[in-house]
Amino acid sequence: MNAKIHILLVEDEKSSCSYITALLGKSGYHITTAMSGREGLSLAASLCPDLILLDLDLPDLDGLKVLEQLRVWSHVPVIIVSVCNEEQEKVKALDLGADDYVTKPFYPDELRARIRTALRHSRRNAPSQIYRALNLEIDLDKRIAHLGGQRIHLTQIEYQLLSLLAENAGRVLTYNAMLRRIWGPYAEENNQILRVNMANIRRKIEKNPAQPQYLFTEVGVGYRMRENENG
Ligand code: CA
Repeated sequence: MNAKIHILLVEDEKSSCSYITALLGKSGYHITTAMSGREGLSLAASLCPDLILLDLDLPDLDGLKVLEQLRVWSHVPVIIVSVCNEEQEKVKALDLGADDYVTKPFYPDELRARIRTALRHSRRNAPSQIYRALNLEIDLDKRIAHLGGQRIHLTQIEYQLLSLLAENAGRVLTYNAMLRRIWGPYAEENNQILRVNMANIRRKIEKNPAQPQYLFTEVGVGYRMRENENG
C-alpha cells in the first residue's frame, strides 16, 4: 500500500541510516539516502520525495539551514530526527516549518506513526470535521465537544485551543505556534497564559490530568493531541 511513497533520509551516521532504511523498507516505503545537507537539498529538488527525514547534526550544512533553504521552494513534509536534549533546536526547526520530530533513540512504531500523520496532513485538503479518540468527540463544525456522551463546557479560548490541537492531532504544536494562532501574530511569547488554559482543558477532559490520555506535553517544545481515530 505504501509502495510508491518515496522518503528521502538526510543523515550522515551510517548505523542510523541502515537502521531506518531497513525499518522503513519493511513497511514498504522506498528510501533514498543523502549523507550530507547539500546532497539532501539537491536530491530533494531532483527526486521530489513525498517526505523528508532530516537529521539536524550534519557534517556540512546545519540541518536547520537545510530546512530553511528547502522551505523557500518546497512544502514537502519534513520530520526532524534529532538526539535528546535539543529542545531549542527542535523548537527552531518546527518554527522554520518542520512538520514534526522524533528523538533518537525512538521506537519503530513511533517513527512509522509520525510518518503516517505527516503524510496524511500533507495530502488532505480539508481536515476531518470530527475528532474522535477513546471517549472524546469534538465536532469542529458545530463547535461542540463531548466526553463519554456528556457535553463538555469550554470557554471560547479553551475551545479554540482544543480544536487547533484536534485539527493537528498526532502532530506536535510549539508553544509559539499556538500562541500566535489563538492570540494573534503579536502575541507575547508568554507561555503562562497557554499553560493555564491547557491545565483547565485537561481538568475538563482528562480523568487523571497527571497521566493524560488526550493532551500530551512535549517538554520544552509544546503539546501533541492523541491521533484522530476518525481518520
Ligand atoms: Ca548526524
